[in-house]
Amino acid sequence: MANKFLIKANKIVTANSNDNVLSGYSVSVENGIITEIDRTENFNESEFEKVYDFSGLVLIPGFIQTHVHLCQTLFRGLADDLELLDWLQKHIFPYELLHSENSLALSARLGIYELQTGGTTTILDMGTMNHQQVVFNELINSGMRAFAGKCMIDENDLLPQFKEDTKKSIEESYRFAKEFHNVENGRIKYAFAPRFVLSCSEELLIETAEMQKDFDGSLYHTHSSENKGEIEAVRKKTGMENIEYFDSIGILGERTVLAHGIHVNEKEIEILKQTGTRISHCPSANLKLASGTANIPRYLDEGISVSLGADGPPCNNNLSMFTEMRLASLIQKPLHGPTVMDAKTVFRLATIEGAKALGIEKEAGSIEVGKKADLVAIDLNNPEQPLIIDENNIYSSIVYSSSPKHVKEVFIDGRQVVSGGESLIYDKDEVYSNGRKELSALLERAVNL
Ligand SMILES: [Zn+2]
Repeated sequence: MANKFLIKANKIVTANSNDNVLSGYSVSVENGIITEIDRTENFNESEFEKVYDFSGLVLIPGFIQTHVHLCQTLFRGLADDLELLDWLQKHIFPYELLHSENSLALSARLGIYELQTGGTTTILDMGTMNHQQVVFNELINSGMRAFAGKCMIDENDLLPQFKEDTKKSIEESYRFAKEFHNVENGRIKYAFAPRFVLSCSEELLIETAEMQKDFDGSLYHTHSSENKGEIEAVRKKTGMENIEYFDSIGILGERTVLAHGIHVNEKEIEILKQTGTRISHCPSANLKLASGTANIPRYLDEGISVSLGADGPPCNNNLSMFTEMRLASLIQKPLHGPTVMDAKTVFRLATIEGAKALGIEKEAGSIEVGKKADLVAIDLNNPEQPLIIDENNIYSSIVYSSSPKHVKEVFIDGRQVVSGGESLIYDKDEVYSNGRKELSALLERAVNL
């Protein structure tokens, strides 16, 4: 890996506070950090170990997905067209329970492979209950920037076998946080991950919030207010709405990221605003599970942090940030009018707003001097894209007309992980064939459950 390199680009979409789009500029990177952004002719190419000539491509910040489940990638296409609670009970919980270390490793690899080749450079992963060290090892080896944690489940009416003792769940989470938080020069961070109200005791939710405070820069990540059947059950269990309940037990705040936030009342919106709690919006999953449409324009008007995630592959069914951006925009327009969720706004949710949600906006989310080199070069010269691309329609070209196949080059922390659209980390055939083998074995185990 070259320590000092230059990237020449056709345009740079910076996602900085002025939304600068630069033409004829280059970016210099040294030891993984962006050191200079200037007109290409101002650089002396001989000073660099390597010069990447991407002058036909557009450079953007790597996408940041604030809610994914790497452990579920193997289950894509195995749980379609179902209600959320049925989806969990009949498929997802049993499959997660049956993961071996090997099947989980392949699931994570497949997910990271898809994410990186689609231009995603940072994720917040919900993890799974068993063998979570496997996911951390894959994150470390793949070069991915990530927050991840063991998924915590100590109550489970849907699948009683898929839970563990409260104390064990807390102790193991603490041990993982000690082992993996801030490893790889801070590229990997810990996210404490109680699954959702219906699979967690109050003791677990509260003690986890206490524990999270011991790890500076870590997060508290859970699901909330996704589905009507779910919030009805939450009401029965707690006597409150989901976010009101979280507020009553003190787990909300600027380090808490809630996936979904669809079915919320006025009081809950006020709570989100006052506590600085983050919402991760997952439009594909919300549509596919018929969960509903979160009022994202309202959240943005209130100044509530919103970022995007693909959620799990079995409820999407892909991990493309382009799909999430496009849908995040389109699903709001019939409800709130065509001017809401414009392409630039949505692009920011996928980049710098994702970084802010995770508290890493000083190091990621935009192309600026001093930030980590998490960079993606995309090709916008295709039949499905505008013929003339300028500063204004470049956002619509990315949000409405692009897809992972347009992603050509990806760097994370200055390390190149995708070149010419191909992964430099994984051998595609190997990941596919081993993935199929592990999935077949897992489904065999499922017969006996
Ligand atoms: Zn989820």
